[in-house]
Amino acid sequence: MRTQIVAGNWKMNNDLAETQALISNLKITKQSSHAEVMIAPTFTNLYEAHKALIGVDIEVIAQNMHFAKNGAYTGEVSAEMLRSVGIKTVILGHSERRAYFGENNQILTQKVDAALAADLRVIFCFGEELDDRKAQNHESVVKSQIEKVLFHLPSNQLKHIVLAYEPVWAIGTGETASPDQVQNMHAFIRNTLSSKYGEIIAQNTSILYGGSVKPANAKEIFSKPDVDGGLIGGAALKAKDFFEIVNAF
Ligand code: PGA
Repeated sequence: MRTQIVAGNWKMNNDLAETQALISNLKITKQSSHAEVMIAPTFTNLYEAHKALIGVDIEVIAQNMHFAKNGAYTGEVSAEMLRSVGIKTVILGHSERRAYFGENNQILTQKVDAALAADLRVIFCFGEELDDRKAQNHESVVKSQIEKVLFHLPSNQLKHIVLAYEPVWAIGTGETASPDQVQNMHAFIRNTLSSKYGEIIAQNTSILYGGSVKPANAKEIFSKPDVDGGLIGGAALKAKDFFEIVNAF
């Protein structure tokens, strides 16, 4: 069976005190779940968050990293640095990184390779813009995003990749893709993987959905057969909402 995952992407929210407070609330609110639960605080709070959650079934993950091991890259953080504070998973390719920080397929390919080389698991995000969907190009856009960044990987590396389909028009907008739109795209993504890596690998790869997932819509989205969990932004900032989403499985 595929791993089910609910990951909270905190984005650039929560200073140290707020991070500690939200983690305390998460610990109080948490119930046992068969989904893997993750949170992604900002870089400055990763170490503290990781320490605060030792022994608790909530993995602390990173929102981004640079592809170089070290060197003259002012303001950047490497995979090894993440590992050194206990991080084992990193989100790469988020649409906000693509839109505001110029991350393209070439940069993302380097980042994915560097993360895997450092033994990090990758949650690779991709998704079409509203114009792509209106023009009925959403499948070809998504296929190309996946192919260009992941398809050079050998099969034994693909098992360290989790896919996260996040239509740009649904992120932080309150507008969610309908459960059927999500299922259709996830099935298409699985077919795309299958045509390159074969059915077994495609069936074993977790595909998450992200974009305005809330307690009110999580159950219906997660009930779709090709949806293996969610990447949650806004609703991950409140412990109660986050765990209502986790418990929607
Ligand atoms: P949202 O963000 O849930 O606030 O739409 C999702 C994401 O950016 O991963």
